[in-house]
Amino acid sequence: MKIKKEEALFYHNGDSPGKLEIKPKKPFKTQRDLSLAYTPGVAFPCLEIKEDPIRSYDYTIRSNLVGVVTNGTAVLGLGDIGSLASKPVMEGKALLFKRFAGIDVFDIEIDEKDPDKFCEVVKKISPTFGAINLEDIKAPECFYIEKKLKEELDIPVMHDDQHGTAIVSAAALLNAIEITGKDISQIRLVINGAGAAAIACGRLYRKLGVKNIIMLDSKGVISKKRDDLPEHKKEFATDENIRSLKEAMYGADVFIGLSKGNILSKNMVLSMNEEPIIFALANPTPEIFPEDVYSVRDDAIVATGRSDYPNQINNVIAFPFIFRGALDTRAESINDQMILSAIRGIAELAKKEVPEEIKEIYESDLRFGRDYIIPKPFDHRLLIEVPVKVAEASLKLGVARVKDFDLERYREDLKK
Ligand code: NAP
Ligand code: MG
Repeated sequence: MKIKKEEALFYHNGDSPGKLEIKPKKPFKTQRDLSLAYTPGVAFPCLEIKEDPIRSYDYTIRSNLVGVVTNGTAVLGLGDIGSLASKPVMEGKALLFKRFAGIDVFDIEIDEKDPDKFCEVVKKISPTFGAINLEDIKAPECFYIEKKLKEELDIPVMHDDQHGTAIVSAAALLNAIEITGKDISQIRLVINGAGAAAIACGRLYRKLGVKNIIMLDSKGVISKKRDDLPEHKKEFATDENIRSLKEAMYGADVFIGLSKGNILSKNMVLSMNEEPIIFALANPTPEIFPEDVYSVRDDAIVATGRSDYPNQINNVIAFPFIFRGALDTRAESINDQMILSAIRGIAELAKKEVPEEIKEIYESDLRFGRDYIIPKPFDHRLLIEVPVKVAEASLKLGVARVKDFDLERYREDLKK
């Protein structure tokens, strides 16, 4: 889909600048309303919260408010464009949260690159929010920042560029493995790229039972022989005596591309194991185009990050719904079990029969199989299946801070 600059600028400016506004949601017409919304009435909820902080979820928008927080150091494919220039992206993220899961967002652009100072700012403003979505922060700082904030805050913190991709690709991977009949503990999986998304994917796939992972960065295979590896890459260093992508791909079952466009060749695809699974996720140009894979292998399953091909791996089918489930159970964190549970929710949804209205949106007869391994972004059932799974895990693990939460009723409420 080609987008013209003029059209995009007009979309962002048009009648009024920006993509968001704040709307009051309580009556505000009379002197009495004024006295309730502000002083003196407002003092009562203040004192309730002072007595018991959890009541902030009852009397403020905290229960439905996510902070989308960035320092603008890794914005889309644009790189380090700074916090101010990143604001249209963060407003866009807010729009997605609202449109897909009804979640309100304040976008927070912080002009601070030092990881500790950045964490300090986020920590200080955290009482405002029910959860924090870290966004477009570059690697390797993003790993440190997320870890530290998770440890220090008592609300969920998730860096979406890492985990969103990891979660959605993991759900797709489980389904592709099921279709091909492979054994997850036996597959050879090559990850090209060792940035924010790739590292998170590798870590998550291991939790799902993948044992044999070869990872590559711009200098080649990440192997134990290299002496230039930062900690997060060392985690994936291999003993194998291979150096190039070509060598890594020989006999591989799965290729995950989170690197750069056009670097996987047809010959490399040809050298893969039977029924190869290829997720070429670099945006906007994938590591290899699906038609090039199919020209040499008719037994492949291919996914990309693009909406104009089947099997789009898109974060938007995860983050709104994971935060929904976390907020609704007033979770203290988003932990591994909640993430694994969300993955199951997404993967299982792809196997259910697709309602006609969704097929109509996509003008396609969506049916679980090689060209449909993952639900589509406009599948409204995501807003039921994923939050329920996340909430279930949140309750089970004692991360939830709601009392008397009825999962069945929650499912019914989400349908409304
Ligand atoms: P990032 O943190 O900048 O990481 C990029 C990684 O790619 C780095 O590790 C880099 O190596 C490596 N790389 C660059 N050229 C390479 C080459 N020729 N061979 C092997 N590795 C190479 O970026 P990111 O956020 O992880 O994103 C990476 C790519 O994935 C982008 O194209 C992004 O658009 C895409 N992505 C797609 C999705 C999706 O859902 N479809 C989600 C997230 C990201 P060094 O470490 O040596 O620099
Ligand atoms: Mg992002």
